[in-house]
Amino acid sequence: MPLLEIPDATEVSRKSLAGELLSREEARAVLSWPDEEILDLISAAYRVRRTHFGRRVKMNFLVNLQSGLCAEDCSYCSQSKISKAPVEKYKFLSSDEILDMADRAVKAGAARLCLVASMRGPSERDVVSLNESVRQVKERYPQLEICASMGLLKEGQAERLKEAGVDAYNHNLNTSESHYEKICHTHTYKDRVDTVERAKEASLSPCSGAIFGMGETTEDIIDVAFRLRETGVDSIPINFLIPVPGTALQGKNDLTPNQCLKILCLFRFINPAMELRIAGGRELHLRSLQTLGLYVANSIFVGDYLTTKGQSATADRQMVHDMGFEVVGDPARSEGPPVSLAEGVEIVTRATRQ
Ligand code: SF4
Repeated sequence: MPLLEIPDATEVSRKSLAGELLSREEARAVLSWPDEEILDLISAAYRVRRTHFGRRVKMNFLVNLQSGLCAEDCSYCSQSKISKAPVEKYKFLSSDEILDMADRAVKAGAARLCLVASMRGPSERDVVSLNESVRQVKERYPQLEICASMGLLKEGQAERLKEAGVDAYNHNLNTSESHYEKICHTHTYKDRVDTVERAKEASLSPCSGAIFGMGETTEDIIDVAFRLRETGVDSIPINFLIPVPGTALQGKNDLTPNQCLKILCLFRFINPAMELRIAGGRELHLRSLQTLGLYVANSIFVGDYLTTKGQSATADRQMVHDMGFEVVGDPARSEGPPVSLAEGVEIVTRATRQ
C-alpha cells in the first residue's frame, strides 16, 4: 500500500473550524498519522475543541437501570443473551434507587445523568416507570440533564420521555453500516438509525456514538464518523472495546493509545462542534495518555461504566484539575480534591525497591 501523504495539521484544523468536510484521503491520513508527530495532530484538534468548548469538561454519570437481561446478541456487550460474563442481573431500578444514583452523580460533579437499560427497547410500563423517576430527579435537581438509553424506540415513546423531562436520548450507531452485521444479528443498522431519528423528531437531544476495537477497518471508522455528522447528533460517545471475559469479543485487543487518540482527533475534525465524549475503555486503552485525549474530547464519564469499574471520580476530577481545565456546571468541583503531597511521598528501602 502506498504511503499516505500527511496533510498539514494546521490546514486540517482550519477546514474543520470553517465547517468544511475533510476528504476521505485526509481522514485516512489522520488515522495513519505518524506516532512520532502525534502532538501536532492533537494540537490541531485542540484548536477546534478550544474554539467550541474552551477548557470545559463535561462529566456524565452512568446508571445501569436494568442489568444483564437483554435478549439481543450484540457481540461486544456483557449484558447480551450470548454473553457469559458474570454480570449482575436485575430488573428496572426503583425511583428511590434512581434518586440515590442522582445524588451520587451530583456529588461526583456530573452535569448529566445517563440512565441506561439493557433491553431491545422499552415496554409501555418501562416508559411510565422511567418517567416517574425522571420527574422526581428533576424536582430534586432541576439543572441535572437526563439522558435515557433504552434501546429501540417505538412510535410515540420519545415524545412521552420528552414530556416527562428527559433531555437527551442515546442510541449508538456503534460502527459502519457494512460492519454492523458482523457484530449484531438481532436488529439492523437501520433500526438504530430510525431510533436516533425518532429522538430528534421528539426534540430530545440526540446522542449517538461508536465502539472501536471490534475488528473494524479504517474505512469503517471513517464511515461512522461521517454518518454521525450527517445524522446531526449533539453528542458522540467514543467507546474503546472493553473485551469483557465471557463476551464474544473477549480477549480482543487491537488498539494502542496512539490509535485511540487518532480516532478521537478524526471525530473532532469531522464533528467540530459536537460534544465528544471519551466513554468506555478510556482507562484501559488510553492509559497514561488519558489527559491527551481530553485536549481533543470535551466530555467523559465520571466513575464506573455499566458493568465494569472505571477510574475513581476523585481521580477523574483530579485529572481535569491538573490539566487546568474546568468541570462544566460545577466550578467548586474544578478546584479538585485537596492533594496532600506529604501523603503521596513514600520512602523506599532496599527491601521494598521494585
Ligand atoms: S441492545 Fe444494548 S443491552 Fe442489548 S445486547 Fe445490545 S448493547 Fe447490550
